[in-house]
Amino acid sequence: PHSGRVAWITGSTSGIGWAVARQLAGEGAAIALHGSAAPSARTDAQLAELQALGVAARYYALDLADGEAIAPLARRIAADLGEVDILVNNAGMQHVESVLSFPAAQWNTMLAVNLSAPFHTIQACTPAMLERGWGRIINMASVSGLVGVAHKPAYVASKHGLLGLSKSVALELATTPVTCNAICPGWVLTPLVQAQIQALALRENLDEPAARAKLLGAKQPSQAFVTVEQVAALVSFVASDNAAQVRGAQWNMDGGFTAA
Ligand code: NAD
Repeated sequence: PHSGRVAWITGSTSGIGWAVARQLAGEGAAIALHGSAAPSARTDAQLAELQALGVAARYYALDLADGEAIAPLARRIAADLGEVDILVNNAGMQHVESVLSFPAAQWNTMLAVNLSAPFHTIQACTPAMLERGWGRIINMASVSGLVGVAHKPAYVASKHGLLGLSKSVALELATTPVTCNAICPGWVLTPLVQAQIQALALRENLDEPAARAKLLGAKQPSQAFVTVEQVAALVSFVASDNAAQVRGAQWNMDGGFTAA
């Protein structure tokens, strides 16, 4: 369903982003793989895996905290692979700490990566989508965009902000063939969450299975993790032609997290 499209997925060397890259490549999209680290044997292997699916794929390294570098990167991707048709703002960072001691520099970086970077990528990629008459902007928010969570002030604020940005862009583009939506996963077992499980295990002297169960037990009624493949399948649908009237959605996939 995505054959001939070009997809740029930010933060796509691990976790949800990597699953989205594999899903969209498997359905025919050329992939701009992106991460903050320099190209490596690992990213080479990832590109080979995508190319084996019969699509073009390139790797781009950029720290998204550097907002001014984002438009030039978008131009490089367009020159290499073609204009971006499917923009997935997936990169995100977490830091768990009380608001009372939360480092200001950490706050600034998280707002830059989780919220301002999507603003810059949208600004860079949308004009060509409008010119070409098709486009999909998909922002990886979180249940933390819909409800508050203690000790995650910057994450929750940035994800709430990302939902606001998504809805505003969706409305501005409502009469165009370009849609903008947000996806709100609950707990997904990725490196970002693994770090929180390890911290919980250490703090409460639990083994890893017990820490996982405790993390889920507190918030996710299904008591099961969402999988990266499930999130990727939702991204694929929202990027499809059938989703042309899905606009400004805050689509949760959260095992019941926000139903409570
Ligand atoms: P992850 O850590 O595997 O992925 C995050 C990606 O963002 C990484 O590839 C990382 O390199 C990239 N990134 C972080 N800071 C960056 C920077 N400064 N510059 C460039 N890239 C940067 O974790 P994930 O869980 O797959 O997270 C993907 C997205 O899903 C994030 O936006 C996260 O907030 C969101 N999310 C995750 C969960 C979950 O339970 N795992 C739940 C809801 C939302």
